[in-house]
Amino acid sequence: MTVATDFYIKFWGVRGSIACPGPETVRYGGNTTCIEVRCGEEFFVIDGGTGLRELGKGLAQQRPERVDIFFTHAHWDHVAGVPFFVPCYMPNIAVHFWAGSLLPERSIEGVLMEQMLPPLFPVPIDVFKSCHYHDFLCGESYDIRPGVRLSTCPLNHPDRACGYKIAFAGKTICIITDTEHRPGERDAAIVEFCRDADIMVYDAMYTEDEYRNHVGWGHSTWEEALRVGDAANVATVVPFHHEPGHDDAFLDRLAAEAEAIRPGTLFAREGMIVRP
Ligand SMILES: [Zn+2]
Ligand SMILES: [Zn+2]
Repeated sequence: MTVATDFYIKFWGVRGSIACPGPETVRYGGNTTCIEVRCGEEFFVIDGGTGLRELGKGLAQQRPERVDIFFTHAHWDHVAGVPFFVPCYMPNIAVHFWAGSLLPERSIEGVLMEQMLPPLFPVPIDVFKSCHYHDFLCGESYDIRPGVRLSTCPLNHPDRACGYKIAFAGKTICIITDTEHRPGERDAAIVEFCRDADIMVYDAMYTEDEYRNHVGWGHSTWEEALRVGDAANVATVVPFHHEPGHDDAFLDRLAAEAEAIRPGTLFAREGMIVRP
């Protein structure tokens, strides 16, 4: 059996903080976080950073009936692509936005509306004719499609963030961004959440050296990604949410170091497809 159970993720944006296009980042990519998840005939999206724009161009041609976008949280680098996501402007495509990090103080509708208010943006969110907004409490599990189970896990991040685990066709993929570890110990909740996963995408914003100057900023390191992967018995670790200052040459060096420690580790690149 092939097509109906094909399960993979595709990276449309792998950066944290801010987009960083340019000659030094062409291979790993400059767009901020956006991941397409394909489960057989079904698909959905995790995060709407600037990478969402390119994904939207293809979807505008394919014209699916609906698109679901699940946000890890609402920091800029995860929502900035929404006003440039063409399906939002197409009345025949229902776009559903989901967030588990905002209740009870806020809602995803309010947050997405605010980033399009004057003088921040020229057109109001009212131009989105067939968009729907949903908030939930991170920590629950949902059967979001036939055979597709989506579990969620609170992460350690300013303003909160929500990790995701997708289970389909006997395989699991975890997406853990943005989150900060405590040096010297593993985050037990994340280790349990990711236990025996086939793939774990993990916040690798900093190196361990850089992290010392960014304690409390809400991010982790590629070294910690490998340790969490070991502790949780993850098959493949995918360091993700790269620091904008980490150019291709720098990321190549980190990837080589990671390969020596944990063979098979895949540093996320824009356009990369990973199958469990
Ligand atoms: Zn981020
Ligand atoms: Zn963040």
